[in-house]
Amino acid sequence: MILSSNSKNLKLCAELIRKDDIVAVPTETVYGLAGNALSETAVRKIFEIKGRPLIDPLIVHCFDYTAALELIVNNSLIDHLAKQFWPGPLTIIAQKKALIPDIVTAGLKSVAIRVPSQTELQKLLKISKVPLAAPSANPFGYVSPTEASHVKRTLGEKITAILDGGRTLHGVESTIIDARNENKPLLLRYGPIDPIMLEQHLNYPLLVQTTTRNENRAQNAPGLLSKHYSPRARVHLVNQTALVEAVKTIAGSQAIVSIKKSQKLIHHPGYHWLSEDGCLETAANNLFALLQNLDEQKYKEITIELAENSGIGLAINDRLKRAAAK
Ligand code: AMP
Ligand code: MG
Repeated sequence: MILSSNSKNLKLCAELIRKDDIVAVPTETVYGLAGNALSETAVRKIFEIKGRPLIDPLIVHCFDYTAALELIVNNSLIDHLAKQFWPGPLTIIAQKKALIPDIVTAGLKSVAIRVPSQTELQKLLKISKVPLAAPSANPFGYVSPTEASHVKRTLGEKITAILDGGRTLHGVESTIIDARNENKPLLLRYGPIDPIMLEQHLNYPLLVQTTTRNENRAQNAPGLLSKHYSPRARVHLVNQTALVEAVKTIAGSQAIVSIKKSQKLIHHPGYHWLSEDGCLETAANNLFALLQNLDEQKYKEITIELAENSGIGLAINDRLKRAAAK
């Protein structure tokens, strides 16, 4: 059931959380499937509902930095990043304290943690008084939800409550930085906070390790899956020139998607765009919603233009490459 955000419904969601139930919540990145991060029972339900393998650790969401400090071992890099970017779409990998059940971190001694800025989620964290473990609220491997209706369509049968916060602000998942070694900040996932934004606040060069892992091999630090964020349709990635060529031979079951709306292509059936003016923030915000929409329209193939490799374009391209992976 989709619940509009008012104090009665927020209280109801907090009660569900406190009873180890699972609630879908809005965040500023994508919708999350949230449960009490300190309860093994609740966290187990999250993995079951999502069909997520237990080797893929969850992100823990806290009300504020003080609440986060109860769960992690601090250092000067974490302190600096938290003060600069929280609340906001930056997930920090830190050494965990024993309070966090092993199931949350897939047995790792580290935990992924962040303080979200989304208003309804902030209120829920405040009244439920527990940290929330929350992966994206979609069946494992599918496109992340950016609207309450996306959650309802894919997981509606399995959860009692979906808290509505409207369309999410960024539309792609948080940036992840490993800050355990204060001399070696390591970027693990591109997101709304890009490397240049991060580097302005670092004393050491930012190392980047967003390469995909082999799903079949055990990992020291589970990273990102090579195939992820995938619609049912097959995804092909092209540059702008190839996109214009692709339109010429388009068939009925194929969709073509550009970053910026093109007046030249607009009359072709199957043509879609991610922004009117090429704004990459807008394109990121529309990306997952459009992929879901094209799946609903039963397209079999989607040919999509890669973004410029800068700013949030890095996150868009990262998600597109995973969506296209076989
Ligand atoms: P999602 O919940 O879909 O946003 O994915 C969360 C991602 O965070 C996981 O797939 C991991 O890549 C990453 N993550 C979570 N915890 C850790 C950790 N302790 N160490 C490294 N990466 C982590
Ligand atoms: Mg996800």
